[in-house]
Amino acid sequence: MNTHSFDLVVLGAGSGGIATAVRAARHGARVVVLEPGALGGTCVNVGCVPKKAMWLAAELAEAQQLAHEVGFSVAPAALDWSEFVSRRQRYIGGIHASYRQRFAELGIELVAARGHFVAPNRVAAGEDEFVAPHVLVATGARPVRPYVPGAELGIDSNGFFDLRAVPRRVAIVGGGYIAVEFAGVLQALGAEAHVFVRGPRLLRDFDAETIQVLSEAMRARGVRLHLRRGLEAVRRESDGYALALDGEEVIGGFDELIWATGRAANSGGIGLAEIGVELDADGHVVVDDWQDTKVAGVHAVGDVTGRLDLTPVAIAAGRKLADRLFGGKPEARLDYDNVPTVVFAHPPLATVGLGEDEARRRHGDTVRIYRVRFRPMLSALAGREHKTFMKLVCAGEDQRVVGIHLAGPGADEMLQGFAVALKAGARKADFDATMAIHPTAAEELVLMSEPGEAFVGAAD
Ligand code: NDP
Repeated sequence: MNTHSFDLVVLGAGSGGIATAVRAARHGARVVVLEPGALGGTCVNVGCVPKKAMWLAAELAEAQQLAHEVGFSVAPAALDWSEFVSRRQRYIGGIHASYRQRFAELGIELVAARGHFVAPNRVAAGEDEFVAPHVLVATGARPVRPYVPGAELGIDSNGFFDLRAVPRRVAIVGGGYIAVEFAGVLQALGAEAHVFVRGPRLLRDFDAETIQVLSEAMRARGVRLHLRRGLEAVRRESDGYALALDGEEVIGGFDELIWATGRAANSGGIGLAEIGVELDADGHVVVDDWQDTKVAGVHAVGDVTGRLDLTPVAIAAGRKLADRLFGGKPEARLDYDNVPTVVFAHPPLATVGLGEDEARRRHGDTVRIYRVRFRPMLSALAGREHKTFMKLVCAGEDQRVVGIHLAGPGADEMLQGFAVALKAGARKADFDATMAIHPTAAEELVLMSEPGEAFVGAAD
């Protein structure tokens, strides 16, 4: 066994692991990163980055359709999926190269192997052993399929990125981020997308009214949402996959089946339990507010902890941890409150802060809801009925804005700045005092004058 000594050993070169390693090295720490797979983990290889590329292609498909509707004579063309995937993968190759370069510049050692704990401060990989006072677990998560007959059929989100052509008719099981995003992309690129959701609605943790509006918008674009449809089994038949749903209904004829039924932490087989690190019932590594496990010197960030599975959260948590351990900032830790998030649906959904129901639970009768629903100009020019929805949740005597929920074109880019305002404690009065930028969709967020009733269900 060859023993190597470092200040920090990082297990996993995904968003969280890389960010922590880089920040620690900038503070002068000697760092080794162990990663058996591709640099960048889920986000770069089978998540945010290739997904956003596919979403952008889908946006262009929709834009072509809109262009046609407003009078451009060119008919919308189909995407050469294979050619686009080559471009996408070249882009990802560039990210890999930039990581390698940064590691080299900072002297971070990269070991292409899977490590496992042999002691809290000792990680083994093959014939090598890495010893350090601090070890970071940043091993991420992986897609899981439910326990139903036929679950081995079809593909998951990793397999989605291996597709080289658009399926004709696709069944997507699940109602979370991934199901909603894939449904939008595939429908826009020419598939007939069906989404099978076991519960009463998509995206159960988001503001209910906003999700209802999003669901209507997805349906208007052609996505078939099958809500309250538990899945009993999947079969492969002569005309494709068939889904047996509870209530004896069978819907078949799918040439692709995608499981989007959640993700599980990569916490097994690396010796965590053996050294005494606590895992919760779902297998997530239990950490405190400082990203520390109960075992001294063993820390964790990112999806393996199950605390908001979002790339920027993993990065920020890792950087704070590195600042605390190596940067002389003993108070550094991530504030997990009011994290903005975007679901790259068609149209995009953007959210920060509390949904209406949660705000009422916390703030009672002081809650006021402001909402607006309108046809964005391009929709109106095209003669489409597609609407944008915006909702502000305000609470307390000073009517702070505690929730912002947007569904419509541009929502993804619109939210970031408004999230700063919410995080800084802006009140509704501050929104009112901000001059509108006209004509934009975003101006509606500073022009909502009166609290209003829900639109959903109303004819408009
Ligand atoms: P989610 O947890 O968002 O959704 C999982 C979905 O699968 C839920 O609708 C769940 O239903 C459903 N489900 C679970 N088990 C079954 C089952 N046995 N039968 C039918 N349905 C089932 O997981 P995702 O995998 O979509 O995404 C994982 C995480 O990754 C997200 O939560 C998010 O944090 C992150 N992510 C972020 C993105 C972004 O920032 N844009 C994009 C993609 C992922 P139920 O609600 O009833 O449990």
